[in-house]
Amino acid sequence: MGKGKELARQLKSQLGTNDPVHICELYHYHIFKAKLPRNTKGFYTKLYGSISIFVNDKLPPEHFRYICAHELGHALMHEEINVMHKDFQGDCEQMELEADEFAFWLLMEDKWMASYRLGRISVVQLSEITHMPMEVIERLQQKGIL
Ligand SMILES: [Zn+2]
Repeated sequence: MGKGKELARQLKSQLGTNDPVHICELYHYHIFKAKLPRNTKGFYTKLYGSISIFVNDKLPPEHFRYICAHELGHALMHEEINVMHKDFQGDCEQMELEADEFAFWLLMEDKWMASYRLGRISVVQLSEITHMPMEVIERLQQKGIL
């Protein structure tokens, strides 16, 4: 099991929620919608021990939870990013995959994954259920993370 998947499962069972916004509240992480350049989905900062997540306010509103989940994944897993991490469209490094893996397993429910494994629902539907962009779901699939 990947790092992101394991952490998502752990949080869901410990906190009893899969809502990234609620989890950020519990951890006292701040979330802001901000005017950012078009190619920046979001970023997070860790200043004086305080974590803030910024989400591009021009993104489709249904992507808000996904971006929060992705940035939350960085905040919890990637200690090595210590001041600021920006997310550009098309970014594809190991940390990005881990953050997307975390977001996917946080937002996805087990019952839907069971249906997906049985071939009853498609990756398009996984994208609709999680409100994660199709290209992100496809990348996770190609990397064998789904
Ligand atoms: Zn990222």
